[in-house]
Amino acid sequence: MWTRPRDQQVGLPTHTLDVDRVRSHFDFADLGRVVTNNAASTQPPRELAALLVTLTKGYENVHRGQSIASQQTTELFEASYDTFAQWLNAPSRRTIATYRNTTEAINAVMYSLLTDFRDGDNVVTTMLEHNSDFVPWYGMCREILPRFGRHVECRLARFDHRTGELDLDHLAELVDHRTKLVCVTGASNFLGTKPPLTLIRAIADGSGYRRDDGSSGSLLLVDAAQLVPSSYVDVQRLDVDYLAFSCHKVLAPFGVGILYAKERLLAQARPFLYGGDMIATGRVAPDRVEYNDLPWKYAAGTPNILGVIVSAYALRLLPDLVGVDGSTRWFTSTAPLPAPLVAETMNRVGRHTAELTDLALCEAMSIDGLSCYGPAAGLPRSPLLAFNVAGVDPFALAENLGRLGVEARAGCHCATLAHRDLGLDPPASCRLSFALYNSRDDMTYAMDAVRRVTDQLRRRPGLT
Ligand code: PMP
Repeated sequence: MWTRPRDQQVGLPTHTLDVDRVRSHFDFADLGRVVTNNAASTQPPRELAALLVTLTKGYENVHRGQSIASQQTTELFEASYDTFAQWLNAPSRRTIATYRNTTEAINAVMYSLLTDFRDGDNVVTTMLEHNSDFVPWYGMCREILPRFGRHVECRLARFDHRTGELDLDHLAELVDHRTKLVCVTGASNFLGTKPPLTLIRAIADGSGYRRDDGSSGSLLLVDAAQLVPSSYVDVQRLDVDYLAFSCHKVLAPFGVGILYAKERLLAQARPFLYGGDMIATGRVAPDRVEYNDLPWKYAAGTPNILGVIVSAYALRLLPDLVGVDGSTRWFTSTAPLPAPLVAETMNRVGRHTAELTDLALCEAMSIDGLSCYGPAAGLPRSPLLAFNVAGVDPFALAENLGRLGVEARAGCHCATLAHRDLGLDPPASCRLSFALYNSRDDMTYAMDAVRRVTDQLRRRPGLT
């Protein structure tokens, strides 16, 4: 493996976050890796691996045993739902469901709502979406509902090709009195755009869609897979109906996605998965099944118990890593996470990653032939930059960066609609994305590497 020279491994402390201190919790930092593919997944801190080992000593199923091990595991598992709720400033654990990832969480909403769509309704989503927040709605509208004789249209709001901003006027035009649901990304994983959720909430509220309970307005789902890792998200302030994110992008291991939904929606909706544990104890008869209380109505079958617990602890560790409150170790405490603590933690992470991104964007602008997509430096954006260099294959670029130890990603990043809409052929770009543990040295080294590789590939285009 390529190793970065030792003297380049030390990150400068920034005004917002002590990166050296953060990095000391991660093994990758000793390997000289320039981890800049964080929009795909982040690295796990050592504490989580240790926690996993500890948990396996009392390894047992939840809600399925009277042993002390089972009771303790159940307690930890249930408390994880409190942590997820606190992280999002959700009213309670009753508003939380756990799935495998964001994709499954959005599919869960789709399958739960499926039969509530009336013939002639529509779903409005955007050309900025990750396939996870487009393909389920495409599938529902084009493949599933037509089989039941119901026609629901999937509409796509445009974005400005120059600025990457969502065309709000177009979105507002598309939303009408037959729009049951508006689905939008909180932060794009390709362009970096952060659509204004408060305005979109207002557009959805004003749609005039007639709900079954007599009230009016469209539901709003936010794909927060790229929003939660670098900003404070308060679901009550945003007043979203559904919000999904993946814990593997917030330091946790793979395998856990969180769905927040308003309690009344979860209470009245049909479950996505049917089976064990999601039923009310003893309330199953051949002709009548009753469901468990929230949130367990949405926890059919044995869940990813250890994954869920460790994911909650990944969140609890963040304030400690960032050093927001020197007097408490939130990772080892069971105290509820106060909203201001979470807000300050994520504001610091956001400021740090935004600073790195802006610096990288400025560097990128000085590379001959390089075009970055999305909002300009200084504007709100996810901490990533996706780019192409005229005459250079983005895959060759990423592979060659990899040889220099810079972990980039080339492809369409599952933002296929936006790549195609921009006329990119192949529909691909090279992307660097930052997390709280990235130093300024990482950024400088990565951008130098982009400059060097670009020069090489232009001189020898056949080089791979
Ligand atoms: N939405 C966005 C904006 C994403 O960036 C991603 C991950 N690239 C997803 C959804 C899907 O996340 P997952 O693969 O964890 O389901």
